[in-house]
Amino acid sequence: MTVLPPGAATPLASAEQILERLFKPTGVPGVHIRSGAYEDIVEALGRFITRLRPEGAEVYRAPPVVSRALIEKAGYLKSFPHLLGCVCALSGGEAQIEAAVDRFASGAGRWTDDVEATDLLLAPAACYPIYPIAAELGTTPPQGFVFDIAGDCFRREPSQDIDRLQSFRMREFVAVGGPEAIQAFRESWIARAPDIAGALGLPHRIEAASDPFFGRIGQMIGRFQVAQSLKFELLIPVRSAQSPTACMSFNYHRDQFGLTWDIRTSDGEAAHTACVAFGLDRLAVALFATHGVEARQWPEAVRRALGL
Ligand code: AMP
Ligand code: ZN
Repeated sequence: MTVLPPGAATPLASAEQILERLFKPTGVPGVHIRSGAYEDIVEALGRFITRLRPEGAEVYRAPPVVSRALIEKAGYLKSFPHLLGCVCALSGGEAQIEAAVDRFASGAGRWTDDVEATDLLLAPAACYPIYPIAAELGTTPPQGFVFDIAGDCFRREPSQDIDRLQSFRMREFVAVGGPEAIQAFRESWIARAPDIAGALGLPHRIEAASDPFFGRIGQMIGRFQVAQSLKFELLIPVRSAQSPTACMSFNYHRDQFGLTWDIRTSDGEAAHTACVAFGLDRLAVALFATHGVEARQWPEAVRRALGL
């Protein structure tokens, strides 16, 4: 595992400087309006990641909403119900909708008291729509199927921290196939990650990690996840060198999604899956924190790597 290089680990730009220079507030914690200067870097990161794309990957781009049935089937409610955002709407007849609007307009109450859940959720991660697509493709080939998927994600974790957003972008490479191929896929990305961070001039280390599972049983699942090495994260100092931020993750789901969507390998076993996630907003903020708020002044090698 790579260690944070001494001296390079303290962020150059503070959270206040980044907020001031690159974002406009919305009044909601963890939701910012992004400036052109910031989006230029997110777009450059997108092109940088495209150059890393595994050969033969099928490319998809997801809308910010996802079918509620899909996330329910994936078992998300057992693990992270506290993070989900559900799309609700005024879905009654004209009279009922009018009554809700009038209540708001007259100041008598909240229009939101009448909303009902729709069949949509805000996507909590980019990779969920991939598994039914993989199932449609049929039996997995020996090297597995590989996908490139990205989208806007939402997690209900309001925070004032600059690296913990409610609305953020995620890009993922997802592999579906036999256990050996999938473990090798994930291992190869863990091995490559230091070079990726290095090319961007970002101090880093890789650590075993767990997801923020809900409740007390969730804490036990989290410990199991660490013990089984199911999740690793690439950590980069964003707010401080002492508590660096997870900017990429390397997840091995074993046969959980293969069983759920009945994805089979050629020997008839449930397929295994893994995903490599790039937190686009966290990587962009990490770049500004590390190299300063003026992208024009970033080290030449970093600008070249990003095609700036
Ligand atoms: P996860 O599915 O939790 O492994 O998330 C995948 C990647 O998305 C992480 O490695 C982060 O870079 C990014 N990410 C997760 N949660 C947030 C958040 N609240 N704000 C910004 N980026 C996030
Ligand atoms: Zn994923």
